[in-house]
Amino acid sequence: MTHVSAKAGLFTESVIREMTRLAIRHGAINLAQGFPDFPAPQAIKDAACAAIQADVNQYAITWGSKRLRDAIAAKSERHYGFPVDPETEVCVTCGATEAMFSVIVALVDPGDAVVVFEPFYENYGPDAILAGASPRYVRLREPDWTFDRQELARAMDGARAIIINTPNNPTGKVFSEEELREIAALCRKHDVVAITDEIYEHLVYEGSRHVLMAALPGMRERTVTINALSKTYSVTGWRVGWAIAPPQLTDAIRKVHDFVSVGAAAPLQEAGAAALALPDGYYEEIGRDYAERRETMLRTLEGAGFRCFPPKGAYYILTDISGFGFSDDVAFARWLVSEVKVAAVPGSSFYARPADGRERLRFSFCKKPETLAAAAERLAGLRGKLPPTP
Ligand code: PLP
Repeated sequence: MTHVSAKAGLFTESVIREMTRLAIRHGAINLAQGFPDFPAPQAIKDAACAAIQADVNQYAITWGSKRLRDAIAAKSERHYGFPVDPETEVCVTCGATEAMFSVIVALVDPGDAVVVFEPFYENYGPDAILAGASPRYVRLREPDWTFDRQELARAMDGARAIIINTPNNPTGKVFSEEELREIAALCRKHDVVAITDEIYEHLVYEGSRHVLMAALPGMRERTVTINALSKTYSVTGWRVGWAIAPPQLTDAIRKVHDFVSVGAAAPLQEAGAAALALPDGYYEEIGRDYAERRETMLRTLEGAGFRCFPPKGAYYILTDISGFGFSDDVAFARWLVSEVKVAAVPGSSFYARPADGRERLRFSFCKKPETLAAAAERLAGLRGKLPPTP
């Protein structure tokens, strides 16, 4: 048996996850993949252990345990005043990753166009391809990652869906309310569904504010909001996420989800309910901690000679590496991981045409102060370590 499908041949292995494997092989500090190296909140770990001990160890309801769906609805009401019906408008999934996949397969037909802002989180391309859809890219333009209204309007004409990731990976852009209103107007005009990936909703800096697309006028009925425990509660390995959508869309999403994964881990769903009920102080604390890590990392990278695009949200810094003299981002990332022992993600993995990201490298800063200090030590004097003819 030697056949592999044409679809599988249309995209490559994840570059981000490959960089993690290289980091392990070279004993490097992993500032590539976005996962924290500090502990998850004790209360939610206790809740997970308690759920296993209480024998919550069998399949949950396929679209999510009632406790978690209720907690998702309660959090939406509490943080945004946006009511969600946990019985008909929520589907719990295996992380935001499965949510995005199940949502696209449920709502998009083969041949449909899906609008994606570029640079993009690398999963969106393969998600669209696996659904038989074709991505239409709209460029976020440096240095502020704004988009051209005409370009967006052209892309939206005849599209089925648009994916919006705010706060954004890899750029750190936080879409403003005005921008979201413009996108919303195009969604209504062209009958396009908005699929928003809001996994970094609580990580915003310098007075930026996360705006819920679904709460904008006329958008409730045409928005799917994707989120997860992964980033907000530092449990990327738990694989618990969800999609919130109007009942008719949720019906379709639940059907696809059921056959893709049956359901997310039952005891971790119970712990998820505890996580979503954490008090406001928790969000204030992570906001403060991440703002500090961001400052530290910006200092480190600028000191080492990178030109940074300071993020307004999420936990990544995209940098310009054109000053280092390497032929491309992949060569530079490979040298950095093997010789300097710091792993980062080549910018080309965030662009449809890899050449467009050739001068970019992404660093994550969701790490302990000690890890960031060790990375700073390794990156100090980087220019002096460069090979003569890279
Ligand atoms: N969406 C974005 C924008 C991400 O950056 C990531 C992880 O880095 C994910 C989704 C993956 O989320 P999960 O781990 O919940 O599947």
